[in-house]
Amino acid sequence: MRFVSTRGVSAPVSLSAAIAAGLAPDGGLYVPEMLPAARRWRVGSCLADTAAQVLAPFFADDVLAAELPAICAEAFDFPVPLRPFGADGDYLLELFHGPTAAFKDIGARFLAATLSRLRRAENRPLTIVVATSGDTGAAVAAAFHRQPGLQVVVLYPDGRVSPRQAHQLGCFGDNVQALRVAGSFDDCQAMVKQALSDADLQAQRPLSSANSISLGRLLPQMSYYAHAALQHQAAGRSALNLVIPTGNLGNAMAAILARHVGLPIGRIALATNANDVLPRFFDGQPYQPCSSVATVANAMDVGAPSNVERLRWLYADDDEKLRAAFTCHAVDDAMIRATIASVHARTGEAICPHTATAAKVLQDLRVQGAGGDWAVVATAHPAKFEAVVEPLVGHAVAVPAPLAALLQRPAQAEPLAADYAALRAYLLR
Ligand SMILES: *Cc1c(COP(=O)(O)O)cnc(C)c1O
Repeated sequence: MRFVSTRGVSAPVSLSAAIAAGLAPDGGLYVPEMLPAARRWRVGSCLADTAAQVLAPFFADDVLAAELPAICAEAFDFPVPLRPFGADGDYLLELFHGPTAAFKDIGARFLAATLSRLRRAENRPLTIVVATSGDTGAAVAAAFHRQPGLQVVVLYPDGRVSPRQAHQLGCFGDNVQALRVAGSFDDCQAMVKQALSDADLQAQRPLSSANSISLGRLLPQMSYYAHAALQHQAAGRSALNLVIPTGNLGNAMAAILARHVGLPIGRIALATNANDVLPRFFDGQPYQPCSSVATVANAMDVGAPSNVERLRWLYADDDEKLRAAFTCHAVDDAMIRATIASVHARTGEAICPHTATAAKVLQDLRVQGAGGDWAVVATAHPAKFEAVVEPLVGHAVAVPAPLAALLQRPAQAEPLAADYAALRAYLLR
């Protein structure tokens, strides 16, 4: 299968080339030249097995086609359970059992397993530079840790990530270096962008990003929707409907692709936080990106969701058809907090603020009479957001074992000025 740019100018490339490049040269996002035809799928023996099956058409003719099962086995070595959640027909799809307890582990691990194989033929290591406001950097650091041929440099704003997040970024060592920057997240991002476009620097030290627009992160996210929906069908239940907490639309886009290739997924509802650019668009207003506002579901603080470009490509720029295919609702901080408390009172479960946006949307859909089986997609473990969650549920939330193991390792980050020259000098050291 070949991949083309949403902007239609760049030449078609193989999947490996699209993954290695990240963004297409014309500034667009890579999409399949033609989507695989909808078909019937069989449920695999485990997540990795289902993933290898569902991703195979996308890897057809690629240099990595034969390695796909091994890539999936390496990346998906933890469970993604679909569990009953309170009322009959309500489920929680838990995407947070990876090393850093958020769903970004899944895409980051697949990207790392893919890139490390692509780098085997090269004799110089590739350095992944990431700016992070928390979750992404930790998932990327964990996924690339000790991957041969790859190094990671993570920049984060000193004092502006939670202590647990800072610890997660600094605890890897080996081929992963954390830099605490005396500046904001925007400063970090600007420094990384400048490094990625510095040809002279790259001639001495090849660089790449692990941006969430990479197909190497997007496509593997189809796997857990496929596995959950097929298992649900095999258990004799009706098609699984989904409510997905949404920021950049990467997670939701994967669900949409999964439904397109024939996986038994019913309705898809999107939940955002107070950053309501998507809900306003789905309400019939023109698409109007804006700057983001800070919320308690901070991994979804996005004012210009990058995957909108892919979504519009999928619906051939027919916005009416697109609007008819989904529903989308905003949930503000007060409702997020109220939902965490009420879900805990009703079910005894603690959920994270991102997951709470979806739980609230499902509550509203049920009140409006929505029937059938619905999964709330749980994108992070509540222990990652203990400062928000614990006061609302009235007790400490136990830290999951993989995260606890990370928090026990010593952590170390080097200070860096918020200045491109300082980053450049660091990378050439
Ligand atoms: C990144 C993230 C999201 C948003 O996912 P998108 O793919 O950007 O829509 C939701 N919840 C958590 C916990 C995240 O880390």
